[in-house]
Amino acid sequence: MTVNKVWIITDDRNALGELCAGGRQLGETVSAVVFADKTQAEEAIQLGADEVYVFGQPSESVVIESYSKAIADMIREAEVNLVMVHASVSGKLIAGKIAAQLGTGALANISDIDVEDGIVVKHMVYGGAAVRTEKALSKTAVVTVGTGVFTALAKDPSRQGSVTEVNPELANTGIRVLETRPKQGEVVNLSSAKRVVGVGRGFASKDDLQMAEELAALVGAEMACSRPIAEGEKWMSKERYVGVSGAVVKPDIYLAIGISGQIQHMVGVNQAKTLVAINKDKNAPVFKQVDIGLVGDIYQVLPQIVAKLKEQKLVTV
Ligand SMILES: Cc1cc2nc3c(=O)[nH]c(=O)nc-3n(C[C@H](O)[C@H](O)[C@H](O)COP(=O)(O)OP(=O)(O)OC[C@H]3O[C@@H](n4cnc5c(N)ncnc54)[C@H](O)[C@@H]3O)c2cc1C
Repeated sequence: MTVNKVWIITDDRNALGELCAGGRQLGETVSAVVFADKTQAEEAIQLGADEVYVFGQPSESVVIESYSKAIADMIREAEVNLVMVHASVSGKLIAGKIAAQLGTGALANISDIDVEDGIVVKHMVYGGAAVRTEKALSKTAVVTVGTGVFTALAKDPSRQGSVTEVNPELANTGIRVLETRPKQGEVVNLSSAKRVVGVGRGFASKDDLQMAEELAALVGAEMACSRPIAEGEKWMSKERYVGVSGAVVKPDIYLAIGISGQIQHMVGVNQAKTLVAINKDKNAPVFKQVDIGLVGDIYQVLPQIVAKLKEQKLVTV
């Protein structure tokens, strides 16, 4: 089933394709709100939006929440059924404000959404140990959506749509931006990777990760990790950890090396088409969840796999 009107709101270009695809899946018409220039509006139309509203980019004097009242007024007037906001820090703020303006609540960080006789969403609770199902009872449902929930469609340059620039009266947010600095470190987009090698505490030192990096390079995979590797050991950046509080990946293949397979990690990878694990403990929980399990010590198994791949001169495609 679908609803009549879906609006998507994002301040992140990377999330645009996935939200547009979600809009097409759930609604008859899709309207996108972007905070950027007109080029992003054209992209939104090619990715599935029927109409795009372009608001100015947030700046030192304009924070994204300044637009919340104007957007809520437009949503009310258009009698929108579902509003999906990208779950970035700013996205969550504006979703809360818009929901408040509409006299409802925002359903946060959904992992699944469906139209039955209303909007029904699922999201993880208790750190990923349980899934809660909720139904929106308000006329307009407001939800926040992280990456990995929908799969972006290929751009279709023949799609047509309308683009409207909006210059609303700014609401007083009581917030002033003092400083904006570009983010240091890597830019990683794990959600679109086709092959992912994930490393865990089975590695005894940071230097040993080089074995997994070599394997990843040979098969054209992105590197990911469990939370302790990023948050505890700080051997890899936070952008690379996968799970309930990290990234969600949907690759063709996910290889978990030295990862025990706790639920908080596995919810981030269980949409992989094929799951493979290497662990020295045959009772590790990960083996109950994978398609192919290899019981063995990383320090013996990985060098052999890498040597074999080099010997076979496998070419990645
Ligand atoms: C609220 C909350 C949110 C969380 N969110 C996340 C999250 O988003 N992502 C996440 O990853 N975790 C998350 N966690 C942590 C999670 O519960 C686990 O603690 C974590 O995933 C374990 O990481 P690990 O598998 O690398 O380490 P461990 O559980 O310590 O497992 C290491 C594994 O390596 C194996 N091993 C050891 N040596 C070798 C060897 N030489 N060769 C082969 N195998 C070996 C061991 O048998 C073991 O199975 C969260 C926890 C909480 C409470």
